[in-house]
Amino acid sequence: MDPERETTRAPKHRRSGAVAQVFRGVLMAGIAAVVAVLVGWYLQGDPRITALLPGLSVPGAPQKGPGVAETPRTPDAPPPGLEEADAPLASPSAPGTTNDSYKFLATNDDGTPVGYSPCRPLHYVVNNASAPAGSDALLATALANISAASGIQFINDGATDELPVDRREPYQPAKYGDRWAPLLISWTTPVEAPALADNVIGTGGSTMYSLDKGPKSYITGSLQLDTPQVTELLASPGGADHVLAVMQHELGHVMGLDHVDDPIQLMYPEIGAPDGLAAGDLNGLHLLASAPCRKDI
Ligand SMILES: [Zn+2]
Repeated sequence: MDPERETTRAPKHRRSGAVAQVFRGVLMAGIAAVVAVLVGWYLQGDPRITALLPGLSVPGAPQKGPGVAETPRTPDAPPPGLEEADAPLASPSAPGTTNDSYKFLATNDDGTPVGYSPCRPLHYVVNNASAPAGSDALLATALANISAASGIQFINDGATDELPVDRREPYQPAKYGDRWAPLLISWTTPVEAPALADNVIGTGGSTMYSLDKGPKSYITGSLQLDTPQVTELLASPGGADHVLAVMQHELGHVMGLDHVDDPIQLMYPEIGAPDGLAAGDLNGLHLLASAPCRKDI
């Protein structure tokens, strides 16, 4: 077995005064203060794929070949197929409008996008030690919207004290049991998460896994939100809608979406006046709902 794990790195939300002049969108009159604060919130893509581990051999594991039907267990992974159903857990309806303004962070050799198995739930934990007041409801809404579009069923495993790290171990049995580690959502600061330095407000991405250079699927992810900057944003008129947009944008990255050049989409690298997930975002998430089930990982 040659397990490969790769991490799709963290596209970043940035805020910069330099783009304050790049006024775009139809912002309502009479909220100049909001414009001054919010127009500068934009996103700069930094998608990278980094190999985490070389291939590992499995001492004593059966050799794959004729007659070997079951996936042998690898030493750095949980038993394969945990919670994996025979069919996708949800069948999200197709978006009402066809739109190709979406991109994927990673694709397989056959061109299909890399996503999570739709046949198992995606557990998540939240390091909410510094979560801004009122952010719980926004996060729940963001997760519900992404779930409705992608079919991925999120399960809240509660709070965690795990801190974000640059290269997170996707299998942490001592902390989370004999399963893939849950998606980690962290309220944090640039001190704890250096990727949030300067004007980066959030990062998000997922870890891919494959067997024998076969098709890749995401098995866990992480999402960091800059508590001081989000707190400032929440204090602005209309700020909650923008924070919701930031959360959905980052969850879009976690699901597998990349930035696009179409300013109408939520995956556009700037959030000016968010109206939620747009047609391109929805079409991309709907395609991710067709990712293969993975009883083998
Ligand atoms: Zn982004």
